[in-house]
Amino acid sequence: MKTPSFARRLASAALISTLVALPLIAQTRVTMPKNKYKVQDDIKLGRDASRQVTQQFPLLNDNQSERYVESVGERLVAAIPPEFQQTAFDYQFDVVNARDINAFALPGGPMYVNRGMIEAARNEGEMAGVMAHEISHVALRHATAQATKQSSIGNTLGTLGMIFGGAILGGQGGAQLGMMGAQIMQTRYSRDYETQADILGSRIMANAGYDPRDLANMFRTIEQQSGGGRAPEWMSSHPNPGNRYQSINREAGQLNVVSNPRKVTPEFSRVQERLRSMPRARTMAEIQRDYQRTGGRSSQTQSPIANGNYSRSVSAPSTRSRVYSNSAMSMNVPSNWQDFNTSGQVWFAPDGAYGNEGITHGAMVGAARSGSTNLSQATSQYINELLQANSYLRQDGSPTRTTVAGRTGFATVLSGRSSVTGRTEVVTVYTAQLRSGDLFFVATVSPEEEAYRYDNVFRNMVSSIQLNDQ
Ligand SMILES: [Zn+2]
Repeated sequence: MKTPSFARRLASAALISTLVALPLIAQTRVTMPKNKYKVQDDIKLGRDASRQVTQQFPLLNDNQSERYVESVGERLVAAIPPEFQQTAFDYQFDVVNARDINAFALPGGPMYVNRGMIEAARNEGEMAGVMAHEISHVALRHATAQATKQSSIGNTLGTLGMIFGGAILGGQGGAQLGMMGAQIMQTRYSRDYETQADILGSRIMANAGYDPRDLANMFRTIEQQSGGGRAPEWMSSHPNPGNRYQSINREAGQLNVVSNPRKVTPEFSRVQERLRSMPRARTMAEIQRDYQRTGGRSSQTQSPIANGNYSRSVSAPSTRSRVYSNSAMSMNVPSNWQDFNTSGQVWFAPDGAYGNEGITHGAMVGAARSGSTNLSQATSQYINELLQANSYLRQDGSPTRTTVAGRTGFATVLSGRSSVTGRTEVVTVYTAQLRSGDLFFVATVSPEEEAYRYDNVFRNMVSSIQLNDQ
């Protein structure tokens, strides 16, 4: 059964109180949403994703900040109303060294709070507000409840595909789930669930000695500090169910709030000052870009890609070709191009055309998780992610139909001024669907003024591809 919208319930409650002049509006009731998954499923999903998060996101690893955020988290977890406590859940708290005002929690309990969020909060209550809201999503098992509504877990967790690049085709079987962590982070909750998390979050806040109004205030702080323009990430994952600020404040009026709630604590001030004095943290966009450049390896490890040097004179593609093959596919490539396995993709490039900033001449082949079985939709989603991660590129015209690896496919042309060569670069992205539903892609790259040398090479490469995904 669908819960009536919170706004409607409030409206009718308000009506009753004015007409009949009831002295009190009762606390809004929260019920566990319908869920066909087991509690153990939440735990497993969260654990798998948190492993990826720790690999792909820079954790701050600063004892003092970490211990402090943990202590606030533990105080909140202890304040979860008994009917929403899951003994099997393991709430854990980590600080991500990222500048964006963001935080996210994974099913079963692992939570990540960005350094930017702690720096932005005006007091401990505001920081605790975001955490209490996140804890509420976990306690109410919203990720799997949403999957229950949508019929598959993949839908909930994977609609955004992989931002950090593909998986599967580099022959690294283990990389198949790709950037699941990032996807979960970007799960957009429904308005019903947002309302529930606001209400339960307020109750947890009050139980833990905070003023729930600080949860409402934090939404304003985030808006203000994000300086207009782009909607802050946290707000887009947690959309306003309508009158959020007023609703939380009204709920707070129904709760027992201690007379001297925790606001600016000495520990909060100390940690905030400490974080603000650290070197500027990267933004999530920068972290993603660096991750792509280094192929997921930390900067200490030398990857073959990192050993590359860009050269102004890159030799033309050889007219002779060689066969590249791995367990997932085979294709013909010019015999003077090397191949590199990097974050689950295979890159092909001649000497002088690869390095830390990616490739200037060559091709990248991989697969991305797709939220749509419709190739055209999956393609445009993927292209949008590429454009977001590579802000210098623009799309030239709409995708055109073509054949990729013997299948129906699309070719989408992007271009922009490359910061490596200082010249206009043309990137053509070929996409087709894999039997698994994932999106197969080949991105070919060359400077615009040399494109005439590469057109045939790229066409032959794309038509020679054989996929082993029967
Ligand atoms: Zn939310």
